[in-house]
Amino acid sequence: MQDFAPARTTSWRLNASCEALVATDEPRPVPKGREVLMRVSHCGVCHSDIHIREGKYNLGGGKTLDLSQRGLKMPLTLGHEIIGTVDSVGPDVTTVKPGDRRLLHTWIGCGECPLCKSGDENLCAAPQFLGVQARGGFADHVLVRDEEFLVNVDGMDPAVAATYACSGVTVFSAVNKIRPHREGEKIAVFGCGGLGQTALQLLKALGMGPVIAVDPSPEKRRQAEAIGVAATLDPNAPDAAQQLAAFAGGRLASALDFVGSEDTAMLAINGLRKGGTLVLVGLFGGELRYPLPFFPMRAITVRGSYVGSLKELKEFVALAKQVKLPPIPIEKRPMSAVNEALHDLEEGKVAGRIVLENA
Ligand SMILES: [Zn+2]
Ligand SMILES: [Zn+2]
Repeated sequence: MQDFAPARTTSWRLNASCEALVATDEPRPVPKGREVLMRVSHCGVCHSDIHIREGKYNLGGGKTLDLSQRGLKMPLTLGHEIIGTVDSVGPDVTTVKPGDRRLLHTWIGCGECPLCKSGDENLCAAPQFLGVQARGGFADHVLVRDEEFLVNVDGMDPAVAATYACSGVTVFSAVNKIRPHREGEKIAVFGCGGLGQTALQLLKALGMGPVIAVDPSPEKRRQAEAIGVAATLDPNAPDAAQQLAAFAGGRLASALDFVGSEDTAMLAINGLRKGGTLVLVGLFGGELRYPLPFFPMRAITVRGSYVGSLKELKEFVALAKQVKLPPIPIEKRPMSAVNEALHDLEEGKVAGRIVLENA
């Protein structure tokens, strides 16, 4: 006798802000059209998962951004650094088959607006990001809208490749915004945690610099030195601005800020040469107060960078293979330890990245 009961799947759900995620059993989706159902093997845990669980960002001046205004609806399955194998495919899928391992581009938009149609789905005003608005990868399975969002990472360590979907492509997209690099010009990198260290490796691989690495932690400055930067700086030193100016010698063309605090942004902006660019990536929070006439007089650019596009993810995967980009330290844990992982990340107890694995 055949069993016609629909197949089931488990996902770790957030039912209300600030609560623990709860393992929830539900029917397993059946892919239609160009959809692909992936069996998740690994999913990275990101700082934004903590913000999403809290449901807010700090905007400075006592104000916060409530993420429910950004399309977040509970219950929600978090997790946006997903790698897995194809479980089943819709009838119109032509490029993958069950069993194929793929990395997921999770920054999916509406697919209809001008930004989505030109490949900038990560900037869509109606995002369907996996693990943010749509069901994510802290789960056994995840449904992807279109096979085009699957990236081939054959030959790569899946736990490392998973992190490329968010932390990797975020760094790559930020570095792209300060290219092309002019010889003899200098770059400052603020924040030398996971993202900052990946940026230092990438700048080195691309031959960009000299670079100054800025971080209050002596340990992280030592790690930056080990990667091979020209100088390091403690931003809390009383003469930090003067030290930065001495390094720059009037040639600080770009700054990448992976912290995004009032202090880092101001130190960076004040240190730039005329025509220089600050790329803000970090979401620490706060607000910027800066005299408007200085923007035209110094012709500086302050721009934000948010994750990256599918094209950038593919370029980054190819580059990481080509230059053998050293991986950030990865700590593997079972998927069932997701709540402890979020807790440890929040407490700052994680060096590098936690990647959750399904058994
Ligand atoms: Zn992330
Ligand atoms: Zn769109």
